[in-house]
Amino acid sequence: MGASRGDGCGACVLPSGVSVLERGWLSSNNVVLHGASPEEGAVLVDTGYASHAEQTLALLDASLLPAESLRLIVNTHLHSDHCGGNALIAQRHGCPILIPPGEYAAISTWDEEALSYRSTGQRCDRFTPAGKLTPGQVLRQGGRDWHVHAAPGHDPHSVILYEPSSGTLLSADALWERGFGIVFPELDGEDAFEEVAATLDIIERLKPEIIIPGHGAPFTDIAKAIGIARERLDYFRREPHRHAVHAVKALTAFHMLEVVHSTRDALLAWLVSTPIFVSTWRRFFPDRDLLHWSNELVDQLIAAKILGASSTNGSVMLQISKA
Ligand SMILES: [Zn+2]
Repeated sequence: MGASRGDGCGACVLPSGVSVLERGWLSSNNVVLHGASPEEGAVLVDTGYASHAEQTLALLDASLLPAESLRLIVNTHLHSDHCGGNALIAQRHGCPILIPPGEYAAISTWDEEALSYRSTGQRCDRFTPAGKLTPGQVLRQGGRDWHVHAAPGHDPHSVILYEPSSGTLLSADALWERGFGIVFPELDGEDAFEEVAATLDIIERLKPEIIIPGHGAPFTDIAKAIGIARERLDYFRREPHRHAVHAVKALTAFHMLEVVHSTRDALLAWLVSTPIFVSTWRRFFPDRDLLHWSNELVDQLIAAKILGASSTNGSVMLQISKA
């Protein structure tokens, strides 16, 4: 869960006026776009998970320049690990929030059926958006123009932000150094692998020089990352069941990052009562018994050392071993 103040990223150098608060997997990275002067105010891109909100606020406040305030929050997409700090940070800083247009109505009315939080068993504190961050729009900040591009695939409503003069791309979960986020629509039986491919094509055409992903360190070997992503996508296209298994494992690991410890029984009870698991099982593995399938999933996470298991008072205790 380490965080770094962004004036460098190992082998690569961030453009001036951009700070990256690098987080783990429960919270997305937070990117601070500083103003050209303290009076302009800063813009925060994505706010992490709800249980980290106070930590995100503290990291943000430490990264603001002397006399600089936060003027705006924007979200690349509305998954719980990207907008869970919105409510707290907007309230403390008294600033508005802009979100991609696709879920504007659902967020404004906090329609839990339409939003992903209940289905995934994840938390997000309710917030109210002030406006939309629409593809085609340009966000002027700190003397730079951040172009908003649609980036469907991982999430049908996601956007990415590109700043041409420095070649900087905020890629959210559309492209990481080694892969991309779960292709959620595919779990609902909607074709979205093509959208992942089209979004990778868009990223390639933008020719970014540095990518600040939604998770992980910024990176500059863009061709290598796109190659890895395409290979992974081809594998998932050939074996959509493998994508489904990957997805439920990632969602289970995410849950364990949140709760840290759980008995095996409690984790199994959570799995069989969380809608996205039940619907994924029903769509991809209907011939299997749900509880057996869930048990197998937990065994595989233990075998992969993502979960550690120990015995306490006759019950098996699990803890997350990779943050
Ligand atoms: Zn996401």
